[in-house]
Amino acid sequence: MSEDKFSPLMPITSRPESIMIRGKGSYLWDDRGRRYLDFIQGWAVNALGHCPPEILEALGQQAGQLINPSPALHNAPQLALSSHLVSLSGLSQVHFANSGAEANEAAIKLARKWGQVKRSGAFEILSTKNGFHGRTLATMAASGKAGWDTLFPPPMPGFRKVPFGDAEAVSQAITSETVAVLVEPIQGEAGVIVPPSGYLRDLRSLADDHNILLILDEVQTGVGRTGTFFACEQENVTPDIITLGKGLGGGVPISAMLAAKHACCFAYGDQGGTYNGNPLMTAVGLAVTKAVSNQHFLDGVAAAGIVIQDALTKLGDRFDFRDIRGSGLLWAVDLSRPCAADVQAAAFELGLLVNAPRSNTLRFMPALNVESDDIASAMEILEHALARVDVH
Ligand SMILES: *Cc1c(COP(=O)(O)O)cnc(C)c1O
Repeated sequence: MSEDKFSPLMPITSRPESIMIRGKGSYLWDDRGRRYLDFIQGWAVNALGHCPPEILEALGQQAGQLINPSPALHNAPQLALSSHLVSLSGLSQVHFANSGAEANEAAIKLARKWGQVKRSGAFEILSTKNGFHGRTLATMAASGKAGWDTLFPPPMPGFRKVPFGDAEAVSQAITSETVAVLVEPIQGEAGVIVPPSGYLRDLRSLADDHNILLILDEVQTGVGRTGTFFACEQENVTPDIITLGKGLGGGVPISAMLAAKHACCFAYGDQGGTYNGNPLMTAVGLAVTKAVSNQHFLDGVAAAGIVIQDALTKLGDRFDFRDIRGSGLLWAVDLSRPCAADVQAAAFELGLLVNAPRSNTLRFMPALNVESDDIASAMEILEHALARVDVH
């Protein structure tokens, strides 16, 4: 019977049988009336939790005023959000899109265009092993996910992979054809891999020395996730291009590519998209980024991150975690054996949503305004889940 109910949907991933029907803050409810404490939050998307008042108000107000005049006309929320992002980043111009992959596509196009006009046709983009940049054909080619190079052949040319966290490897890989280096400040989908400190600064110097662009994919790390609005602020690095997605809309689809003045070289017709910068989504993006960019809010993210780190450290002693890493409210632990999917399933049964990006890795990405009581409850449920599964 359940197969009938789900069968009209193309199966692209395995999902539990529950149907989620309502969310509020850090909690989700399913059709069986069960409540879940949500430490996935739409995949690090719901920056302010489920259905926050800021989004309800922005959506309601904007939906009653103007939903979509077309991308060929200006609208006020798009202008307001672009100037807000420019002032937060120190970059100069913004192009909006609808998903992280699309923002990265735009960044790849901008870099290739810049290579054509400024670097006599240089086109190659260096990106990292195990990196993740999206699921379009170009962003799959830019990603370093195991097995992706043979999916949907032929892969798009123009990308070369270097190990993550190793600036020297980037230095060795640069040729006259290299136009940009594209990295995540912290590799998210790879399991929250934090590079050695100084990595982004070293990449910045290399990019300057070789006249190539530094592109930071902050789709997961941006919009407050690591305790500063952009993760790169923690190394005092200003890249040439930043991409944002996920948290930018706090749950609704909007993404952005921000670029420094010297990199902005699109001519009319080079880039577009029907829904790009529509006022409904940019109004939400403005409400979310105004809330998140408040220093008091960001301090709260950093403080909550320390609470999670301490709690995970305690659990790690009892359950033999091999590593605990993260920043702000993006954390992961490595278990001593590949049973992360079992722990995820046990936690689900007990009412906690966590994610297992690798067979031995659990990832935590709660709402940025998660309450400390909810962190404590999550850690209690996680403890039960870890005890249920023989993790040692
Ligand atoms: C999620 C993610 C993307 C892709 O975003 P979509 O909205 O799923 O296209 C790109 N880069 C990073 C770092 C991500 O975490």
